[in-house]
Amino acid sequence: MTNNITGKTQLLGVIGYPVEHSLSPLMHNAAIAQLGLDYVYLPLPIEPQNLEIAIAGFAAVGVVGFSVTIPHKQAIIPLLSEISPLATAVGAVNTVTRQNQRWVGTNTDVEGFIAPLQTTYHQDWRQQIAVILGNGGAARAVVAGCQQLGFAEIHVVGRNQEKLTAFYNSWRNSSIIENLQVHPWEKLTKLIPQANLLVNTTPIGMYPHIDNSPLSREEMAGLSANAIAYDLIYIPQPTQFLQQAQKQGAIIIDGLEMLVQQGVAALKIWLQTESVPVDVMRQALRKHLGLN
Ligand code: NAP
Repeated sequence: MTNNITGKTQLLGVIGYPVEHSLSPLMHNAAIAQLGLDYVYLPLPIEPQNLEIAIAGFAAVGVVGFSVTIPHKQAIIPLLSEISPLATAVGAVNTVTRQNQRWVGTNTDVEGFIAPLQTTYHQDWRQQIAVILGNGGAARAVVAGCQQLGFAEIHVVGRNQEKLTAFYNSWRNSSIIENLQVHPWEKLTKLIPQANLLVNTTPIGMYPHIDNSPLSREEMAGLSANAIAYDLIYIPQPTQFLQQAQKQGAIIIDGLEMLVQQGVAALKIWLQTESVPVDVMRQALRKHLGLN
């Protein structure tokens, strides 16, 4: 799969710890091979205490750019020269690129999240209500995405009041806070019937716990048949959460396209091109996950 390495091969990669389960190398190297470019995208396991030295080393060896995953998405911020307004609002960087001898960070998870909503459902979201389960890192990109789409109300539901309050307060310097409300889990029964978009950002239902769902059957029974249910999880497909929503007649979206589209957005930045082979990237992942 990986191209022939030459003396001129340009370096891309993903930093995380651990990083060996990342699907990004598979997806990006498939795109690079299709484009016939002399680049390689590597998994780079970096322990938190080595982050700063690793970034300095990347500059020394001329790394073109890299993806950032857990646990570095926030820790990388002080090591960068510039951060996009979007990444600043989200409070996390997942894509870094070298520009004029400086590291510049952005967040493509937001673009990844909204892509399937925009391309498949050409709706006016402005009178609509989003209900988001969970208040972790991915929920931040989802909240920013819902704001970009123009949702009138964005409700985030979490199990820990302290974390929920901190989550809410973290948007104080952003206009997002005007449309944002946070709620304890017990409010779900009241919120779900109002949801036009219901998003699961918790890991509940992820392989191997495939019979679990963040919602009880009774809670999901309140979901409107006109709603869209979106699960960020991509294994299994569909999750228990999406199966429940489908029984309600709702439209369902799984997390694979978000994974593909955040990668597409990153590759466009690194390669400075709009022609990225999206289908090749999607197919590489689907084949690896045994989806066709
Ligand atoms: P995270 O930062 O650890 O956040 C997880 C959130 O889920 C937290 O708010 C946590 O609550 C909540 N949660 C966990 N177990 C729960 C339970 N039993 N009941 C209620 N809430 C629970 O993780 P993340 O980075 O946001 O990732 C979350 C999920 O999104 C993962 O499955 C990940 O694979 C997926 N994801 C997918 C993509 C994609 O491209 N498709 C991208 C990013 C993430 P507490 O805060 O109370 O602990």
